[in-house]
Amino acid sequence: MNILLTNDDGIHADGLRCLAEVASQFGDITVIAPSENRSAISHAITIHHALRVKEIKPNWYAVTGTPSDCTYIGMHHILDQHPDLLLSGINHGANLGIDVLYSGTVAGAMEGAQHGIPALAFSLAEYTPTAEDWVHAKRAVEDILRWFLTHSPLPKGKMLNVNIPKAPLPSPTPFTMTRLGTVQYPPQVDKRLDPNGKPYYWIGGLPPVYGSQANSDSAVIQQKDKVSITPLQLDLTDHDMLASWDDSST
Ligand code: MN
Repeated sequence: MNILLTNDDGIHADGLRCLAEVASQFGDITVIAPSENRSAISHAITIHHALRVKEIKPNWYAVTGTPSDCTYIGMHHILDQHPDLLLSGINHGANLGIDVLYSGTVAGAMEGAQHGIPALAFSLAEYTPTAEDWVHAKRAVEDILRWFLTHSPLPKGKMLNVNIPKAPLPSPTPFTMTRLGTVQYPPQVDKRLDPNGKPYYWIGGLPPVYGSQANSDSAVIQQKDKVSITPLQLDLTDHDMLASWDDSST
């Protein structure tokens, strides 16, 4: 099995190294990741300037672009054929609720899912994980992959968004299927002055408030006793609203 790996924290991130260590047990890996941290870059692709690709060690490629660029250039150029599996992460920090729209980790996986490649995004609910946190996260990823590979392939345009709590979990790793919950970031626009006296702005940065809706990813990650797996789809159409308008149209 050929496995393509990417992330948004950059090719040197600990989470990517951990994901590679686990994925190597399941097949032949190729790592294609941004040359630097591109967190919160969403599904951006680079079409207005050049990309550089550097093989920093065998089968590890650093790309001067986004996670979606990495998946794209992997599928359509670096690899001889589409990979059998696409893994993104392990992100430093959870990707819950609306985070999935901002996340480069999720986008890197979705870029492959839209081509029918089974894709999973992994995130650890800790921005500054310790070595011990990574040990727990790796075991969770291994168990989730083992479960996933015994199930039917994902339909085209669908992927799994996996969030791992910071706390150690029993073995085998307990997990539950969830829907997107809510993550509210308190609004903050910080106005500062540069050394020339000109203003600049820094947005965000305050800790989020997680919702506790039943069966939601944000609730499960707050409880810290299970891994949360949310099936995501590319199709953002509101089918209920569409159907109601179809009914009322003439
Ligand atoms: Mn990130």
